[in-house]
Amino acid sequence: KTFAELNLSKPLVKACQALGYTHPTPIQAACIPLALTGRDISGSAVTGSGKTAAFMLPLLERLLHRSRRLAAMYVLVLTPVRELAVQIHSMTQKLAQFTDIRAALVVGGLSLQAQAASLRTSPEIVVGTPGRVIDHVRNTQSVGLEDLQALILDEADRLLEMGFADEIKEIVRLAPRKRQTMLFSATMTEEVKKLVAVSLNRPVRLAA
Ligand code: AMP
Repeated sequence: KTFAELNLSKPLVKACQALGYTHPTPIQAACIPLALTGRDISGSAVTGSGKTAAFMLPLLERLLHRSRRLAAMYVLVLTPVRELAVQIHSMTQKLAQFTDIRAALVVGGLSLQAQAASLRTSPEIVVGTPGRVIDHVRNTQSVGLEDLQALILDEADRLLEMGFADEIKEIVRLAPRKRQTMLFSATMTEEVKKLVAVSLNRPVRLAA
């Protein structure tokens, strides 16, 4: 199958071409059609499998069909470490380059005020580490979770190892119940399974 055959719109197919992607990877072929239906997904996927585009392309597709601009973020991607957030943010910008969808990066080590200013311009997608995201929700109040339509927990096993369980629980508590949640993890430990149980709704399991 090609990206166009996965029912992705022209601007996204064009971005895949620009990136030199000719065919979807196995995780993309499995995840994109499912995610387009809005289902929750828990996937065993490692970095290198193409999982970033696997979850981001269907989210971008759904955003292209949004009826109005909201004043809050639609999509939040949480990663355990700054470097991974930087990579996912950069990949998101490349995948969204032929659309009007904007993504902000929210990680520690950068100015809180500059990030707050960027969040106040209402980017549709926020990619960040849990501690810094909570900091903005609670303290700078530059972003709210009330309109969140999709939550992505990337490298969930490492998110838990880094001690972010409480931050994730708070984010899940503040987000609308009716949302799409996707969780990816290299390993499915008992702790990860518990996180799946509290944050996903009837997830489909994918392995790649
Ligand atoms: P990821 O697993 O998301 O970190 O992606 C790993 C690498 O694979 C990145 O450099 C992507 O640009 C690349 N990649 C993702 N999807 C494809 C594809 N369909 N064809 C070729 N390369 C891809």
